[in-house]
Amino acid sequence: MLDRSIHEITLPLKVIIGSGILDKIPDYLSKMKFTNQYRAGIITGPTTYNVAGRIVEESLKNNGYNVEVWKARDARMETANQIVEETKTHSIKIFLGVGGGKSIDLAKYAAYKNNGYMISVPTAASHDGIASPFASLKGTDKPTSTPTTTPYAIIADIDVISKAPPQLIRAGVGDLLGKLTAVKDWQLAHRLKGEYYGEYAAQLALLSAKHVIRYHELIASGNPDGIRIVVEALISSGVAMCIAGSSRPASGSEHLFSHALDLLAPGKALHGEQVALGTIMMLYLYGDPKWKKIKRIMKKIGLPTTAEEIGIPIETIVKALTIAHKIRPNRYTILGEKGLTEEAAWRLVRETGII
Ligand code: ZN
Repeated sequence: MLDRSIHEITLPLKVIIGSGILDKIPDYLSKMKFTNQYRAGIITGPTTYNVAGRIVEESLKNNGYNVEVWKARDARMETANQIVEETKTHSIKIFLGVGGGKSIDLAKYAAYKNNGYMISVPTAASHDGIASPFASLKGTDKPTSTPTTTPYAIIADIDVISKAPPQLIRAGVGDLLGKLTAVKDWQLAHRLKGEYYGEYAAQLALLSAKHVIRYHELIASGNPDGIRIVVEALISSGVAMCIAGSSRPASGSEHLFSHALDLLAPGKALHGEQVALGTIMMLYLYGDPKWKKIKRIMKKIGLPTTAEEIGIPIETIVKALTIAHKIRPNRYTILGEKGLTEEAAWRLVRETGII
């Protein structure tokens, strides 16, 4: 029987943020007791291999590590399972996810399935999966995330992340803004449904949103210090999920809306862009006047705030609003059990200026 009095938390052991640190990865690994006796697997993408994967591979090889590289084009469950099998054949113990969301998610899943150690090496700051124990794998029966393992370490090279397309860092801010409504939804579910609520995890997630709000001008300027702030906030949000033991502090109605868009208009916009658009509307549903401020900040940063800017037809956005509550029925949010009526959804997009 599940003992509800025991709450187990696994946190990342080390977080290293700096400039030009990719070729120091062998040092960091050996300091974490991962000497070159351990077999390493780099899970990366075709582009991110050229940007960062190759440097990591070469520096590990130069230090006597036995390294295999997987270049994945997608983060589908089939691809993930194939990597699980191949890494098992090669007896990989250290799984380095070098890339954006896809590579990190695949590495987390492979490490989890093979009982190995996952090292997160992000090349972009576009979402909070960098440090969370969850992976978004496509082609499963649900569009939400799969529980995996907490990254053992996070090694974030600001030089590399600064060179990623600016749209990605903006999306990272968007994912963080979503914590404003995610935490409200968590509190609501606690009050209405008696769901477990952890104040510390909730406050940590909120802090990550407040952090980027406070420094949004610096972030918008493209200054490396601004990028560092986004990276740190994304890690905090991931740690909040580790503490909560679920994605609750980081994912509420705004994420359900984004997942609904993934089903209706896959690949049209970035996760964080969709989440931010959802945040404006969910704050409005809460009657929180802060939605106007958030919209202003999004505009300043360059995040899309209308259907036209995000490149998704308004009818699709309205449809997503009406089906979002069905995406994850046991995650209670402001959308309630029955969701929004079409009429209410149309009013919502008009009132918040999405149309
Ligand atoms: Zn997210």
